[in-house]
Amino acid sequence: MTALLEVQQLSRDFGGVRAVNQVDFDVRQGEILALIGPNGAGKSTVLNMVSGVIPPSAGEIRFDGKPMAKVPGHEYAGLGITRTFQNLQTFDDMTVLENVMVGMHTRTRSSLLACGMNLGSSRREEQEMRERAQIWLEHVGLAEEISSLAGSLPYGKLRLMEIARAMVAGPRLLLLDEPAAGLNHTETAEMSRMFQEIRANGTAILLVEHDMDMIMTIADRIVVLDQGAKIAEGTPREIQENPRVIAAYLGD
Ligand code: ADP
Ligand code: MG
Repeated sequence: MTALLEVQQLSRDFGGVRAVNQVDFDVRQGEILALIGPNGAGKSTVLNMVSGVIPPSAGEIRFDGKPMAKVPGHEYAGLGITRTFQNLQTFDDMTVLENVMVGMHTRTRSSLLACGMNLGSSRREEQEMRERAQIWLEHVGLAEEISSLAGSLPYGKLRLMEIARAMVAGPRLLLLDEPAAGLNHTETAEMSRMFQEIRANGTAILLVEHDMDMIMTIADRIVVLDQGAKIAEGTPREIQENPRVIAAYLGD
């Protein structure tokens, strides 16, 4: 299978500390690749580099064969890479629909500006965005909450709202940083089902998550980080049986 994302010898230093150390991995088209490891292993730092939030100290990231080093962060969504964050990034005094439409603007901002003089097509585009946002909110089970203020939603629903926001831009690669953190068992199962549906529709997922039930159920492959370095890579079964992974992470 073709690699959609290629990460080679990726490193990142903060001051004198090496947070990510010469990490290699690929995300293939249409797969869920899980990135796991103990707290402080460097998982979020990897996602921050892959999503253009921070530059690597060394190494290379290619998306669809294209080197990403010179691509500015605001162009990532348009190229097909979107993400959610470990901590919620929501606008409490905006509606759920408006929160999700923020994700569309990152993709269509230039076309919105371009047709700013033409009210008709601008309205049509606005309408299309609204419909796409509605469709994704229905997908994630928030049809009833579309007009509610985000600040009035419980935590689990805000997590779902953020996934809808990342999906409206129509990404080819979705990056998720601990999407199930703080969710109960039912919510986590529902979220797993949704990720499988997203994969089935052709979007690849790079998933950072501590919930091992979720990882072992939905991941096609797993990469394990420890202290910034990759210590293992394989299928869920291989990773579960790997002595080095058990010692570093799965043991307790
Ligand atoms: P994980 O997501 O696996 O828990 P992180 O990528 O958040 O790990 O962090 C990896 C290491 O890098 C940790 O030691 C963390 O303290 C450090 N780190 C992360 N971000 C920064 C930053 N902005 N400045 C300084 N150190 C950081
Ligand atoms: Mg993290």
